[in-house]
Amino acid sequence: MSMISIRQVSKCYGTFAAVDDVSMEIEQGTITALVGTSGSGKSTVLRMINRLTDISTGTIEVNGRDIMSQSPTALRRSMGYVIQGNGLFPHRTVAQNIATVPQLLQWSTQAITQRVNELLELFNLDPAVYAHKLPHQLSGGQQQRVGVARALAAKPQVLLMDEPFGALDPVIRHKAQVDLLAVQQQCGITIMLVTHDMEEAFALGHKIAVMHAGKVLQYGTPEDILVRPAHPFCTQLTGTTERSLKLLALIKAQDYVTPQTLNTPLTLPAEATLREVLAELTWQGQPAANIANSAGQVLGSLTLQQILRAGQAR
Ligand code: ADP
Ligand code: MG
Repeated sequence: MSMISIRQVSKCYGTFAAVDDVSMEIEQGTITALVGTSGSGKSTVLRMINRLTDISTGTIEVNGRDIMSQSPTALRRSMGYVIQGNGLFPHRTVAQNIATVPQLLQWSTQAITQRVNELLELFNLDPAVYAHKLPHQLSGGQQQRVGVARALAAKPQVLLMDEPFGALDPVIRHKAQVDLLAVQQQCGITIMLVTHDMEEAFALGHKIAVMHAGKVLQYGTPEDILVRPAHPFCTQLTGTTERSLKLLALIKAQDYVTPQTLNTPLTLPAEATLREVLAELTWQGQPAANIANSAGQVLGSLTLQQILRAGQAR
């Protein structure tokens, strides 16, 4: 079942359609990246889901319920929302910030403390060190993690993120993306993430919706967008350089491994992407590597030739 159903939704300001007849079904437990140029309607789609912006026409259902049948306040408390620059309350401690929604929902003090500590640990922030700090005492990357922790505090089924990593420098941004993927896998939440960065959309999205002038031009897997672009604008966004490498970056070694162990000095992790395997083979001057899981068990092998085939236009 879809966690979020967007059916023929438009948002008009006067005669201008900021969002123009958008339909999307978002599967539970997936990350959907909304990508497009500035002003294409991405934030408006997100803000209609939690009723920060009213829909003009069409319907949105979350978890099978029409959002219009719920009060905006209850709806917002049932979904996490993260915006660029994290929006933390500056005069409240990290713990108080994270506790915001559980407090509104009148959880017990004990349940709140437990949840705050659990989240701080999930984001690698030692509660003893960070719980009582104020936001300005943290680095940008740490503030951003607290912003996501706060959005997850009441265990929402849906997390809406509007350019959450936009203010971070590239290295911290990459780390934040990796952390988000790990957290998403751990808690199985459904995420809708707005970004203007196609690379970020590729790194995070199980599905990508390419938006332009209020319309969704293509809604598909990263591979769909890359290999079967539905519109010249999609090609323009992905770029035509290094398409093979972008494709290889979407495939994990464990999903392409041949169950045959080879006599090679090189063993690489199953979670590595084919792009990473290619880079390592090239660097080591090896034609093949064995692939092992995190327990060290060898699953099989990958050869250069197999990787070259995986990166071919299809
Ligand atoms: P994006 O997030 O993709 O940059 P937005 O969803 O914020 O785009 O905005 C889409 C379009 O709607 C833009 O042209 C923007 O100027 C317009 N828009 C957004 N909010 C309003 C508003 N309150 N009144 C009029 N136009 C608006
Ligand atoms: Mg926006």
